[in-house]
Amino acid sequence: MRVSLVGVHHDSMHGGQSGNPADRRGPVTALDPTRRYFSPEIETMPRTEIERRRDEKLLGDLVPWAYERSALIRETWQAAGVTPADVTSMDEFQARVPFIDKDSIRAFRDRHGDPYGGLLCLDPDDPSLQKIFSAIFSTSGTTGDPTPAPYAGRGPTFLVREFWEQGVRPGDHFLHCLFTFRGPAIHDTVRGVGATPVFVDHQPEDVAQLFRFSRELRPTGWYTLSGPLVMMIEAAAAALGEDLAETFRSYRGVVFAGEPIGPRARARVESWGLELFLQTSLGDVGAATECAAHDGCHYWEDTAFIEHLDPDGGQPAADGERGELVSTTLIDKVAPLVRYRSDDIVRRTTEPCACGRTHGRIWPLGRKSDEVIVDGVSILPGDVWGAIESVPETQAGLFQVIRAGREADVLRLRVGYSSPGGRGLPDVRTRVTDAVHATVGVAPDVELVEQDVLLRQGPPHKIPRVARS
Ligand SMILES: [Zn+2]
Repeated sequence: MRVSLVGVHHDSMHGGQSGNPADRRGPVTALDPTRRYFSPEIETMPRTEIERRRDEKLLGDLVPWAYERSALIRETWQAAGVTPADVTSMDEFQARVPFIDKDSIRAFRDRHGDPYGGLLCLDPDDPSLQKIFSAIFSTSGTTGDPTPAPYAGRGPTFLVREFWEQGVRPGDHFLHCLFTFRGPAIHDTVRGVGATPVFVDHQPEDVAQLFRFSRELRPTGWYTLSGPLVMMIEAAAAALGEDLAETFRSYRGVVFAGEPIGPRARARVESWGLELFLQTSLGDVGAATECAAHDGCHYWEDTAFIEHLDPDGGQPAADGERGELVSTTLIDKVAPLVRYRSDDIVRRTTEPCACGRTHGRIWPLGRKSDEVIVDGVSILPGDVWGAIESVPETQAGLFQVIRAGREADVLRLRVGYSSPGGRGLPDVRTRVTDAVHATVGVAPDVELVEQDVLLRQGPPHKIPRVARS
């Protein structure tokens, strides 16, 4: 059945709503495969123009629309005593517009029995909605229960720019391997580049199929790879005697998404000859993805207004510094998020990238609810990961941050070891402590446990990185 989906050609891709990036272009076959960017005039737009268009969309269109139609936005703004008339500049927007977050959406949902948490701007019974409101996805549900995320319209998403950047061209095959969400949107996007999706499921039973399609169809793009899938591929390759560098040799890029990648998994994937493009969520209004320069994940400022705020005071953090990502959509008129506090800690810059694109970039660092502050130093699980993997006995990178609260007197780590080696556990503990201290500048209190103890705490090959104590 899956094979029958392969070989569908891109003769009917132009069903998307206006405003999608591929709609204004001629037939897909007219895309010049040698051109550097998919949408050069947008991707390399001068910052002043990016900001002018953003202000126009946000203040002139999105703000009044959301206030008039979204019950959650209106209720939140009224409680803060703010109306769209008070928001005529970006300074006023940042000074006055109240935040929303997952908790406020869930609270509205429970209070009003509204599955969309007051975000839906259109009447679900309106027949005209059927034209643009084609599917409901759940968010990835990394924390707490997933919330429904309406997907407006058919047609490619802005990820066409990413897939093009990774080297996918018209006529290519594209491996489509998804867990949980947004499958149809990605399908349309692959078609938007002019490539043909090849479907496999993100589960152990499908890994042999993934190998076979890779050898027979020689795809160039791959969306997505995840930490658990790396483990599944390793296990299947060992069992089947698969030469992964040969099997995967046609790929020009693979998007890694879903969670951070540790140094060990990265080295493994790179040993297969795959170029990784990390992707991270953009506060539930989209995604941000690495370019060929691999220096941060680009987000598209014609689709979202991104703020990053000092987690303590809520003031804008400096360019290049750590802050909480706060997102506002510029394009979603169905269920718009406006000043949505994501709980994600990122580093961010709006400096132009070496790849020539001018839009902002973020580096995902972790979740605010996982952050521990010791002696004024912000520490997230990803900060200590590499140090722990650098010690041979703990190289599997299985560890937990023991977190009683955001502020702590000492950084407590529970670290899994495989074999204590000749010099015994005290020596392992000393080396882990020193490696972490050298990396984050704070001496940790390390508790060593057999790594199987940690593995039993989570689903296979993935453990909770933070343990609440
Ligand atoms: Zn770039």
